[in-house]
This record gives sequence, C-alpha cells and structure tokens, in this order.
Amino acid sequence: MTREPYKRLVILGPPGAGKGTQGKRLAETMELRHIASGDLVRQHQAKRTSLGLQSKVYYSKGLLVPDGITISIVLPDVLAASSGFILDGFPRNVNQAEHLESAMSEVALQIDQALLIVIPRDEISKRLTDRRVCRQCEQVYHLTTAPSKDDDKCDVCEGQLYQRDDDKPEAIDTRLEEYHSQTKPVADFYRDQCKLTKIDGIGSVEEIFQRLSQALRYEGFERSYVN
Ligand SMILES: [Zn+2]
Repeated sequence: MTREPYKRLVILGPPGAGKGTQGKRLAETMELRHIASGDLVRQHQAKRTSLGLQSKVYYSKGLLVPDGITISIVLPDVLAASSGFILDGFPRNVNQAEHLESAMSEVALQIDQALLIVIPRDEISKRLTDRRVCRQCEQVYHLTTAPSKDDDKCDVCEGQLYQRDDDKPEAIDTRLEEYHSQTKPVADFYRDQCKLTKIDGIGSVEEIFQRLSQALRYEGFERSYVN
C-alpha cells in the first residue's frame, strides 16, 4: 500500500545549512508552496505593515522577532496553502511549534514530516560569512561554493548582491546561540512524534538535495511497508 505523499513539511537546520536553497528546490519539485518566514517578515517590512515595522527593530539586530509577531505573519500563509507547503525558518522554537500544531489541528491538518539538515558548528560560521543575497529576488549565493557568474550581480535578475546584517560576524554568534537553545528543541519536538528525518548537510547543494529527496522517498517506502 502506498501512502499519501507528504504535503506539509518543515525544514530545520542551523543558519547556513542551506535550508532556503533546499527548501525552494524541494518545493518546486514536489509542487508545494515554499513558506520562508524570513522572506515574509522582509515583505511585511518592505510594505511597512504594522507587523513589519514591529519586527524590524529586532530583526536588524539579528535578534529573534517575538513569537506573537512571527506567528501572526506566518500562520495565514500556512493555513491558505491547501496544496501543501515547506516551512522554512518556522517554527523556530517549541512555543511556535505548539502554536502551529494547535492552529493546524483546528482545521484537521498536521505536519507530516520535519527534515533536519545536520552540520557541524565550525563549518557554519565559514558558510555564513560567505553568503550573499540578491537585493531584488533574494536568490542566495556563496562566495566559494556557489558564486554568481558576474561578481556582485545576481544571475537571475542582475540585482545587486549584498551581505545581510545577520550574516555579519557579530550577528552570527547570537544566531548560533539562539539556534542551539531555541530551535534544536524543535527537532526533538518532531522526533518525539516520530516525524523527524536527519540529513547530512556536508556536501554540494546537489548532493544534499539528492539526500533530502531520497530520505523522503525512503521514508515513504518504509512507512508503506509497515502499514
Ligand atoms: Zn536576483
């Protein structure tokens, strides 16, 4: 017996693990909506909504936006994505995970699987300081592993590449501490529900993508076998 394909996924991992890149690609392949909380927050900021303005103060310091604000920004998109989604950057702590679970259960939905990209801490700082992002389309590049063809211009839209404030060295330590104290417990939250799949995050973008795809297929096989 085959099961329904997973439609509601969470992608987890430390900053710099490639969640955004992998999440976007998985979403395209699986025809799911890629819901990146960071992008949503930036969109609210650009439109100068009340939630966007409130979040801006925290975000520009590399601090986590308070849960109430983030939840109000992300939940409407989650509940509207009827054909499924990959959540990226949310839930970022157990409180958010619990809110997500209860909001989804009210409409008889649940997270099907959480994917955790595992990457050693000493590798992370190096990756983050190398990261550049397109100002226009938010495409992500790395100076060493995935550079743009033309110095600091985006390959997709020719927009200007820049380094986000929260990718600068002083903000990275804060983000890593927050990850270990706040977001890692989210992985345990899904592990306790038997919904966690761990993926080795060392390798090329392509290698990691293949691992993620295989894990989702294998997980499906295993489940259908058990059922
Ligand atoms: Zn671009």
